Amino acid sequence: MTAQVIARCVGQPPEFWDTGDPGNRLALQLCAVCPARRDENCLVGEPDRKPFGVIRAGVAYNERGGRCPTCDCGYPVDDLPDARRQLTGCRHCRVPKLRSWDSTFMNRQAYQAKRWQTRKAKAKAAA
Ligand SMILES: [Zn+2]
Repeated sequence: MTAQVIARCVGQPPEFWDTGDPGNRLALQLCAVCPARRDENCLVGEPDRKPFGVIRAGVAYNERGGRCPTCDCGYPVDDLPDARRQLTGCRHCRVPKLRSWDSTFMNRQAYQAKRWQTRKAKAKAAA
């Protein structure tokens, strides 16, 4: 084996290999076809015994060092696992809940009534 293996990441912005970067998809694809990759080890770069928050040899690691699954779109699902919430897809695929009023916070009418009472009490105190 020759030592003159040119890794695919050479010349690319290194932040692409930081988990959470918009370049993560390209980084994973480059690692997948890289001649310097041996299974889950990278022959170039500094050896990382416990990688976290980075992509190494085609595997994305989250901030705690856990492996991120890859979304259908090609980006790693870099959210930390949390049993309390069900996550589907990566942050690029997830559709945010856009509503003018968050009803889990408080009923809109109840909130308005409370605000009115507060304002009325303030005006009364000032008078
Ligand atoms: Zn996705």
